[in-house]
Amino acid sequence: MSWGLEEASEMVAGGASRAGQLLRSAVDIVLPPLALDSGRNLAPVQSRGLTAEVWTQLRFIEAPVCDGCGAPWEFDAGEAARCPACLARKRAFDRARAAVTYDEHSRDLILKLKRADRTDLAGLFALWLGRAARDLIEDADVVVPVPLHPVRLLGRRFNQAAEIARPLARRAGLAFLPGAIIRRRDTPSQAGRSGSGRRRNMAAAFAAPKRMWPRLEGRRVLLIDDVLTTGATAEACARVLKAAGASCVHVATVARVQDREARPI
Ligand SMILES: [Zn+2]
Repeated sequence: MSWGLEEASEMVAGGASRAGQLLRSAVDIVLPPLALDSGRNLAPVQSRGLTAEVWTQLRFIEAPVCDGCGAPWEFDAGEAARCPACLARKRAFDRARAAVTYDEHSRDLILKLKRADRTDLAGLFALWLGRAARDLIEDADVVVPVPLHPVRLLGRRFNQAAEIARPLARRAGLAFLPGAIIRRRDTPSQAGRSGSGRRRNMAAAFAAPKRMWPRLEGRRVLLIDDVLTTGATAEACARVLKAAGASCVHVATVARVQDREARPI
């Protein structure tokens, strides 16, 4: 799968002015298309719309990673190796990958998208996931975003996970199912809760409408969210997707929390 500069330009052009689009088109003519999976010259595509300062501060997660949760390894433990946390407790989802470490820099960008200050970032994040979750995308049939509660959606105007998932699905040629799962209740903030506390908080928060079951039956689902903290939200979604017939659920998030000190959004 190749992610050319032209597609990147198209994807990040979302809220840009016509003049900005023309400028980008001019740049596309000057610069040859780049393949994200070639391992060469990634920065020009992946840093589109970011200042050089922000770009250099981001911590991209590179292989090798735990095959279960996507945590980066300090050494190569071998293909499909899983970390002690994944071995100790089987998660409801099958595999997870994230593009960057969650810290103040990635948090700032994600909040800008969440607050709709920078809707163009959704396309950029989709590009990042195209690389970080390439294996999962190749193993997927449908793309499902983690839903927002309708009341929260009204207040925020759009669901950032869906905005990231849409261009990702289009580029990968996968079905995009934004209504595959719904949020039944607006769960209280997860901040400060332990892993088990988050799982209890999330239990029964999601549901898969019966009319969507035929589109999930036997399908391999790629679930998209902005941040993976303990994985409680992703697990709650994975449970309802599997109960609705999904054969497996993989998770791709823009960022993942790496340590206990990191503050979830
Ligand atoms: Zn793991």
